[in-house]
Amino acid sequence: MFKKLSYKKEGMDDEKFVREFEKKVRNTIGEYRLLNPDDNVIVACSGGKDSTTVLHLLKKFGHNPKALFIDLLIGEWSKKSRENVEKFCKQNDITLHTVDIREMFAYSICYIRSVIQSKKKLRNCSICGVIKRWMLNKKARELCATKIATGHNLDDEVQSHIMNILRGTPRTSIGLGPKSGIKEDKKFVQRIKPLYFCTNRETERYSRLMGFPVIYEPCPCSVDAFRKEIKEWLNEIDENGDIRLNAMKNFGNITKQLKALEMTEKEIRQCKICGEPSRNGVCRVCSLMAQT
Ligand code: SF4
Ligand code: ZN
Repeated sequence: MFKKLSYKKEGMDDEKFVREFEKKVRNTIGEYRLLNPDDNVIVACSGGKDSTTVLHLLKKFGHNPKALFIDLLIGEWSKKSRENVEKFCKQNDITLHTVDIREMFAYSICYIRSVIQSKKKLRNCSICGVIKRWMLNKKARELCATKIATGHNLDDEVQSHIMNILRGTPRTSIGLGPKSGIKEDKKFVQRIKPLYFCTNRETERYSRLMGFPVIYEPCPCSVDAFRKEIKEWLNEIDENGDIRLNAMKNFGNITKQLKALEMTEKEIRQCKICGEPSRNGVCRVCSLMAQT
């Protein structure tokens, strides 16, 4: 079930690498039934290598994806990312939808974050990630999308699992896995991760070989020191990727059990403030925005 990583085969020629990488993504989509022929899939595009790779491959595999760019207004970085997504979609004849954070929240993410952080000790990505997911789900639903494809890769997933365990919040891993969501809800658009078995290194190699117009530098606001440490540690101890693969296998089993437990517990409700799906009376975005 779990694919072999290509770390050991890094010496393989580019043509073979591209073929194997594409085969792995296609197999992940097939084996985990990430997409049905009648799905209306939208790719959450950040202008980075991962989401651009997903967009390119879903188009190549005939899934007719649309692109959605959420403009968080993080200065030049957002501006350049938006230009790149626009360029890629134009070159590849892909419909692009954009949404500006000010349309939904009246301010840039930087302003919202600074106000929340003046009252609550939260990391940049914790605030931004919650808001982004909320915007993504709402906009995708408005566009009648049946699936949202994201660029999360194997490295992202393993890092998240380890962080959740070390922080003592393993239940947070319920949202991980190739498909998001525990229970179906008509207001919740399922998120899928076609790069679930692709390492960061492989995706970067693929993206560079394809010559995608993307930014390779990380977001200037991603100052999550804990994630950075886990990432560096994993790179140090796991040169050929075997540890990541084994870890993923075990984490996958734990997540399955947690999901089964969650099935018997909380129903998905609607947030009484914004009406979006939530397991609590008030969703995380509305709780955060109450701080502003
Ligand atoms: Fe937001 Fe963090 Fe992603 Fe930057 S890296 S866009 S701050 S979630
Ligand atoms: Zn809400």
